[in-house]
Amino acid sequence: MIPVNEPLIGEKEIEYVNECLRTGWISSAGRFIEEFEEKWAAYCGMKYGIAMSNGTTALQAAVGCIGLEPGDKVIMPTVTIISCAQAIIYNGGIPILVDSDPRTWCMDVVQVREKVEAEIKRGDGKLKAIMPVHIYGHPVDMDPIRGLAEKYNLKIIEDAAEVHGAEYLTDRATATPQWKRCGGLGHISVFSFYANKLITTGEGGMVLTNDPACAEKARSLRNLCFLPHRRFYHTELGHNFRLTNMQAAIGLGQLERMEEIIAKKRWMGKAYTERLQGISGLQLPVEEPWAKQVYWMYGIVLNESTGLDAVQFAQKLKEKGVETRPFFLGMHEQPVFHDMGLFKDEKYPIAERIARQGLYLPSGLTLTEEQLDQVCNAVHKVLK
Ligand SMILES: *Cc1c(COP(=O)(O)O)cnc(C)c1O
Repeated sequence: MIPVNEPLIGEKEIEYVNECLRTGWISSAGRFIEEFEEKWAAYCGMKYGIAMSNGTTALQAAVGCIGLEPGDKVIMPTVTIISCAQAIIYNGGIPILVDSDPRTWCMDVVQVREKVEAEIKRGDGKLKAIMPVHIYGHPVDMDPIRGLAEKYNLKIIEDAAEVHGAEYLTDRATATPQWKRCGGLGHISVFSFYANKLITTGEGGMVLTNDPACAEKARSLRNLCFLPHRRFYHTELGHNFRLTNMQAAIGLGQLERMEEIIAKKRWMGKAYTERLQGISGLQLPVEEPWAKQVYWMYGIVLNESTGLDAVQFAQKLKEKGVETRPFFLGMHEQPVFHDMGLFKDEKYPIAERIARQGLYLPSGLTLTEEQLDQVCNAVHKVLK
């Protein structure tokens, strides 16, 4: 069976983890944490990095940084992992959903504008932030979102958990367009370093920001809101969202091979597209002219004309030795939120369609050209 996603762990990671073990720095203090934070923030063009125990806790801390009042609203895509919605809800907020763009599968920025303007029109001042989520390696079209945030004084919490190293062309309507890395495009951004992400620490995450007050707040929330000068005296409630030095050691080793990882992913994306582009009834990932995408997952969407949905297609590929994974199911289709009275009669047709017709092919960092050929042959045979 060709696995769907495998990390690439090398000698550097082993050497650094060994150093933690030999020196006893195995907990949430030690040189690797600060170095990993600094280097990852710098790589993404942000000032401060605050390592977290995973991407989900990083999202929760990031939303915690903007200080929502109960009932405050945050706009987010329906197509994403549940971590995004629960970060808003656990912080007392209400998620407002938007559908996906049919090409990139990222949040539809026209709908973002419509929802922002509808909320502003209400005049209750409840809308506080937009949470763009870059999907499967492709950036969200950020300029329109940045424009809205500036106009209406909203925060941008950028979920970059699927786009390590991806780039976006900002200010492309001006004389000085500029390529910037995802994770450096909002007020606060969030990464995950779970084992299936582009770089990994096993479990892990990070919050990035340029705002020193926000960085301080994230650090405080991470560590039970201990006061710096009076340790067991608390004015706020926090969490234990700490990352260990051993995990940061793996991350630092991974960071040193960023270029190799991105090159591999981009090779994979191109190679799949070359081999699959002739098949009718199959939608492949795009790369918009303003994006350098990193193919975290090579997603495909089947046209209904094939007579197959993603579940049936996955079964047929499995019989041919190819493992796949389904796309996200939209937040508006989650029973847990309906039980809370959220999103009940909302409809997002693009999200609903790609959830039923989309899956991703093996996209791991250890995928060989021979395996990739095997996957493509299997796809050809099933859809012939
Ligand atoms: C993986 C992921 C997360 C959550 O990260 P964990 O480390 O698994 O908690 C958050 N957002 C997106 C978009 C993700 O893909």
